[in-house]
Amino acid sequence: MRTQVAIVGAGPAGLLLSHLLDRAGVESVIVETRSRAYVEARIRAGILEQSTVDLLRGVGLGERLDREGDVHRGIHLQWPGERHHLDFADLVGRTVTVYGQTEVTKDLGRAREAAGQRIHYEVADTRVHDIETDSPFVTFTGPDGRAERIDADVVVGCDGSFGPCRAAVPNPQTWERTYPYSWLGVLANVAPSTDELIYAWHPDGFALHSMRSATVSRLYLQVPNGTDIAEWSDDRIWDALAERLGHGRDGWTLTPGPITEKSVLPMRSFVQQPMRHGRLFLAGDAAHIVPPTGAKGLNLAVADVALLAPALAALVDDGDEKLADAYSETALRRVWRCTHFSWWMTTMLHTSGDAFDAQLQLSQLRWVATSEAGATGLAENYAGLPIGF
Ligand SMILES: Cc1cc2nc3c(=O)[nH]c(=O)nc-3n(C[C@H](O)[C@H](O)[C@H](O)COP(=O)(O)OP(=O)(O)OC[C@H]3O[C@@H](n4cnc5c(N)ncnc54)[C@H](O)[C@@H]3O)c2cc1C
Repeated sequence: MRTQVAIVGAGPAGLLLSHLLDRAGVESVIVETRSRAYVEARIRAGILEQSTVDLLRGVGLGERLDREGDVHRGIHLQWPGERHHLDFADLVGRTVTVYGQTEVTKDLGRAREAAGQRIHYEVADTRVHDIETDSPFVTFTGPDGRAERIDADVVVGCDGSFGPCRAAVPNPQTWERTYPYSWLGVLANVAPSTDELIYAWHPDGFALHSMRSATVSRLYLQVPNGTDIAEWSDDRIWDALAERLGHGRDGWTLTPGPITEKSVLPMRSFVQQPMRHGRLFLAGDAAHIVPPTGAKGLNLAVADVALLAPALAALVDDGDEKLADAYSETALRRVWRCTHFSWWMTTMLHTSGDAFDAQLQLSQLRWVATSEAGATGLAENYAGLPIGF
């Protein structure tokens, strides 16, 4: 096979990149280890920044998003006895939209299918070759067991945190922070008990009340690393959520419902630089991972490919290297901003067991919730800086 851009991974980064390239008249082929059904059903992120929504709308992907997405003006921030609403629309003139990663991926999958995009699902042994030359290629084994090869002008690793592309960059610089806690996340078939997300600091540990739609709630509990999900019955989960989210306080109630999915998610920050080596470019989780507290992972993947698509179009169509040369440095500015914000939200809201830390966290929360300067900083980062920042 021959194409202009070979893309490894059909997650949000890979699918959106192929969509943007297509609109710029650039051909691509995608390879993906999982099936399309698996990729579209994978429960992950659910909060879209204003810039992500604007971008998706601008490239013809806004129809269902506008119909089904739930626009939120802000979030609730709470600690025992107090709940404050931060209104991003008032503070920074921007909002966020609740629309699951599953839905973004389905919209992208349909759009790519309608455009006749070549996507090879359920491949194995993906490898990238000759990335230091102008004729890199990707090899893989197809679902029928046949060895395949894609020759391209450029290869892009959109293969997430466990893919092979990151390791193909020789001697990268990496930074990593692991956190001493994980999230126990559940999806429940029950209407959310809140209009907008509740981020709750509690001595027992952080809790988050999020949602996916008017009938599906997404809730998280801070748990120790190594937690065995079997030790958390549905009743225990709802009891802990009720306690940490403040059920019964000031007339607010948490309505439990049937849990349809539960998992434990470790928390990690990771950045690898550069995001380009020769003719291999990295985008999304392939280059960086953030803990989910700031709702940044999916949005960062979108911001990367929004920068990368015009850079690759200029490179492969006109031989113009300028944007491609600037890609890594430009993308990393936003990556580090989001890495800091995600770390900041995480360390402000998760209890460490240290009494001094707890007082600092409460002081910080009070300042953010009650000072316009503090609230504006959170709002600007959470609702998202413009792409290209
Ligand atoms: C369990 C989990 C829960 C999350 N929850 C949240 C959340 O609540 N909020 C939030 O903001 N973010 C969350 N994230 C982060 C967010 O989902 C990611 O940042 C986002 O998916 C990044 O998109 P991506 O396309 O870069 O990577 P991915 O979505 O990981 O896509 C990479 C794709 O590459 C494929 N691939 C891997 N290896 C190969 C290979 N060898 N050959 C071919 N294809 C390959 C994978 O199957 C996958 O489809 C979560 C992440 C995980 C893992």
